[in-house]
Amino acid sequence: RAPAPVTISTPTGNKWQVPSGIFINNSFHASVSGKTFDSVNPATGEKLCTLALGGAADIEAAVKAARTAFDTVWGKRSTPTQRSRLLLNFADLVDKHLDELSELESMDNGKPVWMASAFDVPDSAGCLRYYGGLADKIEGKTIEQTEGEKIAYTRIEPLGICGQIIPWNYPIQMAAWKLGPALAAGNCVILKPAEQTPLSALKLAELSVQAGFPPGVISVVNGYGAEVGEAISTHMDIQKVAFTGSTATGKRIMKAAAESNMKKVTLELGGKSPVVVFESADIEQAVRWVCLGILFNQGQDCTAGSRLFVQDSIYEQFMRELVAAFKAHKVGDPFHELTFQGPQVSKVQQQKILDMIESGKRQGAKVEVGGKAWQSPDAKFRNGFFVEPTIFSGCRKGMRIVDEEIFGPVLAVAKFSTEEEAIKLANDTEYGLGAGVFSENASQIQRMVSAIDAGTLWINNYTALSNSVPFGGMKASGFGRELGVDAVKAYCDVKAIHWNY
Ligand code: NAD
Repeated sequence: RAPAPVTISTPTGNKWQVPSGIFINNSFHASVSGKTFDSVNPATGEKLCTLALGGAADIEAAVKAARTAFDTVWGKRSTPTQRSRLLLNFADLVDKHLDELSELESMDNGKPVWMASAFDVPDSAGCLRYYGGLADKIEGKTIEQTEGEKIAYTRIEPLGICGQIIPWNYPIQMAAWKLGPALAAGNCVILKPAEQTPLSALKLAELSVQAGFPPGVISVVNGYGAEVGEAISTHMDIQKVAFTGSTATGKRIMKAAAESNMKKVTLELGGKSPVVVFESADIEQAVRWVCLGILFNQGQDCTAGSRLFVQDSIYEQFMRELVAAFKAHKVGDPFHELTFQGPQVSKVQQQKILDMIESGKRQGAKVEVGGKAWQSPDAKFRNGFFVEPTIFSGCRKGMRIVDEEIFGPVLAVAKFSTEEEAIKLANDTEYGLGAGVFSENASQIQRMVSAIDAGTLWINNYTALSNSVPFGGMKASGFGRELGVDAVKAYCDVKAIHWNY
């Protein structure tokens, strides 16, 4: 029996109805165990709603539904134009529900509602639309053979059932990034949202039925990583797991995949991205992007520009302007139109960030601004999970704030004098996800582009992403690419045919 939908009342007076069950075969069910869990509003610390908590038995049911769909109506039984049409419908429905999805995302995650409405939700629709456009352009190739009367060609085929485990920092966008390419290629998907942010995926599930996806093609199973995530990574009839989250969990998933059925794995993991500002940079522009790079999304961004290196000749001026920009940064109510920074996603994350800040102080870095939990003057937000935008100077390797991912609004700054030194500092990390370079010297930029080990480089800007440009990491930041044509390839097998005629 379908559990009743939950009602999410928002500060704007809206009351949104969201399905609360496990989504399998195009309908919502109680979990097999009957267990539930609560989602919390990070701005107030109060309970937002209670939802069905999935477990291994629910993954089993989702795989069964997906297998039937893949073998009968989806996979090789579907046509590229059909998949294209459904994804385009899906994208339109996401656009139509912009206000609802933005408010749900903000209530669940804490991000300012105007940001969800300007970026997260429209970008998710854009991503589904991009893959809707790509679904009928997936092509194999013919390869000339020289010996005998033979022809060789390749067919691009879907993998089968794909598990998708996503994090809480961009819940709807991570769902769209993963669903889009997998569905375009003809795979069935089992999506596991993060337990901190389950709502937007449930709403997407509901919209997917309206878009016309056949039962079993998409399942959404909320639950904890150690159970639902584990059940996905170890399942013998799941052909791929796509994961975004921490490096520690990524390692566990890869091990589980190897020890089960050798399922394919793509991993988009953590980062400790460097931003290098040279003396030729446009300082005003660089300050703006550096702020955005570390403070956007409350600093909960795998590509957050969290290590800043400034050339010594401009250091004093740059820091003056940067500290002033941090002080002007508006923290608070996610539903206020001037708020740039809401709460962190959870009490656990807030505490983790505050512990890192304390370690920075203990290890000798200097707090230039911030350095503690942010207290709201409004009693309503007193128990929210806020952190002050924080800058540490005098940072060096060996400090935890320099070496470890903080995933919060905390920037570690150091000076450098030569380009060679900047390259060494930038690459001195186990991660390789993003990097920023600010310079007006084209030759220097080219040298930096070649020297820095990162999957994405931003030159004189930061955090820009595009549905058509591949995104992913080097080193411990993972492997495989999302977005663009590369993401579809990561959801396909290539079959080679040698034909003697
Ligand atoms: P996490 O990696 O544990 O969680 C991400 C997802 O993985 C969630 O859906 C979670 O339920 C699932 N998961 C957890 N354990 C699993 C397991 N054993 N098998 C399969 N799936 C599992 O991240 P977290 O604990 O929520 O956050 C910890 C840190 O991870 C953060 O502080 C941050 O540094 C990093 N993080 C990175 C990203 C990113 O976008 N790269 C996103 C979220 C968190």
